[in-house]
Amino acid sequence: MTSAVVRIPKQSAVDSRVPAVAGNELNVPLVTGESVGYANLDHGASAPCLDSVRTAVDQLLPWYASVHRGAGFASQVCTRVYEGARDVLRDFVGARRTDSVVFTRNTTDALNLLAGALPRGTSVVVFDTEHHAALLPWTGPRVRRIEAPATPADAVAALDAALAECPEGPRLAVITGASNVTGELWPVAELARVARRRGARTVLDAAQLAPHRPVRIAELDIDYVAISGHKLYAPFGAGALIGRADWLNAADPYLAGGGATRKVNERAVSWNTGEERHEAGSPNTVGVHALAKACETLSVNWVNVVEHEEALLRRLRAGLREVPGLRELCLFDADRERVGVVSFSIDGQDPGLIAAALSAEHGIGVRDGLFCAHLATKRLLSRAGSDAERAVRVSIGLGTTAEHVDRLVNALHELVAEGP
Ligand code: PLP
Repeated sequence: MTSAVVRIPKQSAVDSRVPAVAGNELNVPLVTGESVGYANLDHGASAPCLDSVRTAVDQLLPWYASVHRGAGFASQVCTRVYEGARDVLRDFVGARRTDSVVFTRNTTDALNLLAGALPRGTSVVVFDTEHHAALLPWTGPRVRRIEAPATPADAVAALDAALAECPEGPRLAVITGASNVTGELWPVAELARVARRRGARTVLDAAQLAPHRPVRIAELDIDYVAISGHKLYAPFGAGALIGRADWLNAADPYLAGGGATRKVNERAVSWNTGEERHEAGSPNTVGVHALAKACETLSVNWVNVVEHEEALLRRLRAGLREVPGLRELCLFDADRERVGVVSFSIDGQDPGLIAAALSAEHGIGVRDGLFCAHLATKRLLSRAGSDAERAVRVSIGLGTTAEHVDRLVNALHELVAEGP
């Protein structure tokens, strides 16, 4: 893996209107563009682009050409960049050397690809608290949904029991790294262990985990992992499914078309094996390059990334605890280790109006709703004793400063003081 060169900017260089504050001098610069003063607290939806990613994209654009099928120099450059990105991603998620890296549009696409590649008769076990991207692709009589567990130990026991009841044949356990509603970390290692003991393969939805913590699938004995570039500080449009090649090579191609074929004649088509089998059509070379560059940059900055986020998350949660009537949603418990995602309701306040007021009056971007995890969010609201039907989600990351967090907390105090 090549190491990224990361400049160390002063905060004032990227955002002249927001005063520099302690804890803000992270050496992973972002493309902030015109967004000076804007507090983007919606990293969980999509994270801002890294400066290193923009530079990498700028460098590739003059050589933009079709991959694999062109004889020209630009095609060769792009093919090398595109194929080289597979190694970068394999390293980024700690995959086995033999794992396939299939480029997709995003995590949703990756999980749907896997769902279509399961051997006939595969039993699938999935928690009903998953993001819809991990909950919905699996269909048929052999899909078993487990109700939201109350503790990590319950989750492990429930998966174990559900897998024990699966009929003979292939099995898949769907696991999420970090909740997109509460940020809490799932007990991934333990879940993978019981799955293996029950003869099941595992797929890790790392959409929300991978931007915040290193993922090591070989070490954890996880079979597949899905990620999205736009949550990893790259632009939209590129993601990946990484994992064992055998099921993927045996499955029908995800899309039928050029690039996936080995030979076509009047009577028959023979399909490629390997990643190309599932990547028909001209691929998103620039997006893949951007994703790989984001992975490289994160890989050499994990210590900073995690420290920055943990400090701001502590500040955020301490501030939120002081807001009257605020109920934080928790899947397991308030002390569970988590990434920078916090959802809450405030008694007597409409979540949609809170989000709108934060945007219009304070320049703060958050999200409100059920976060594509309807079952989880509704259940967690009720567990928190809230009568709200939706929640507000604040999610932090490399673009977040202490001033953003303080601005949010002060704004919520103001909103509560004004009343509903
Ligand atoms: N899984 C989780 C945990 C997510 O948070 C998201 C997006 O919010 C997804 C899957 C789907 O990601 P994408 O929309 O990039 O496919």
